[in-house]
Amino acid sequence: MAEVYIGIGSNLGDREGYIRKSLGLMNDFGISVIRVSSIIETEPYGYTDQPPFLNCLAHVETFYSPLHLLNALQLIEKTLGRKRSIRWGPRTIDLDILLYNSVVIDTPRLKIPHPDMVNRYFVLKPLSEIAPDLVHPVLGKTMTELLNGIKT
Ligand code: AMP
Repeated sequence: MAEVYIGIGSNLGDREGYIRKSLGLMNDFGISVIRVSSIIETEPYGYTDQPPFLNCLAHVETFYSPLHLLNALQLIEKTLGRKRSIRWGPRTIDLDILLYNSVVIDTPRLKIPHPDMVNRYFVLKPLSEIAPDLVHPVLGKTMTELLNGIKT
């Protein structure tokens, strides 16, 4: 059984509803949601001419391999109406694998730990809330240390 942290974001329509539905679908798909962080509202990243996001994070357990998990999460995104158009553009739901045990993967389709997680407040803040002492498998720093590192 793998311990996984999944980043969740939405900035279209009933944002909280989409987050709730994505958690329900994860459970239906055999991705057991153990704990969910608080939801925070953040300004868009990258492509900034779009509505603000609601972001949170789920600690889950699953028997899926990393690639099967990515497939399942992409199916959930599709089910909830996500259309891939603009990179970093508006989306009903965005599901990212942030950490999968201490696994390190660097392929074109899947990178774990998620490469952008160490720069993003909306990822590190909820991670520090639910897993403050969890260590980043490449950087060797805890989530709290990483969060403190991006604060100015
Ligand atoms: P995005 O539009 O930000 O959701 O990016 C989706 C793309 O990122 C997909 O085509 C995935 O193959 C790729 N990807 C690479 N690493 C990850 C990861 N750790 N979690 C989710 N998607 C990933």
